[in-house]
Amino acid sequence: MSEENCIFCKLVKGEIPSKIVFENDDNLAFLDINPVSEGHTIVIPKKHFTTLEKTPEEEVIKLFLTVKEVAEMIYTKLDIDGYNVIQNNYKAAGQHVDHSHVHIIPRSNRDMKIRLTIPRNSASNEELEKVLKKIKS
Ligand code: AMP
Ligand code: ZN
Repeated sequence: MSEENCIFCKLVKGEIPSKIVFENDDNLAFLDINPVSEGHTIVIPKKHFTTLEKTPEEEVIKLFLTVKEVAEMIYTKLDIDGYNVIQNNYKAAGQHVDHSHVHIIPRSNRDMKIRLTIPRNSASNEELEKVLKKIKS
């Protein structure tokens, strides 16, 4: 998906409507049209970057400071017990919109049907050492 036909860029330009939760010079936070739970919000840099590691450092800093600010709004204003912050990168990880973004998903003690927990596997010390070596090489 190129910048010209990026949904989130269109949203920044006001070419398609959105329910804006928060906005400053660099970031926009808006309600997800397919919410996992009530108040599910997406936070984006206004500039187009595709994934987290392709987003410049200063933009990442600003983005996550905004995520913190919006998370505080959501946690204090909605009657919720917690929230998940999720950031998907590339198709394999569930990214559908190729404009770097962060999900803030309100959670409640009553919403146990929502399954966002990650299945875990145990790993041996050798397996951990092997992958650690690869990442750090
Ligand atoms: P991801 O699957 O991580 O790429 O998340 C993209 C999210 O953007 C999905 O949860 C969509 O529901 C949401 N989305 C797509 N188009 C819009 C839109 N026009 N306004 C608000 N949210 C949108
Ligand atoms: Zn974009």
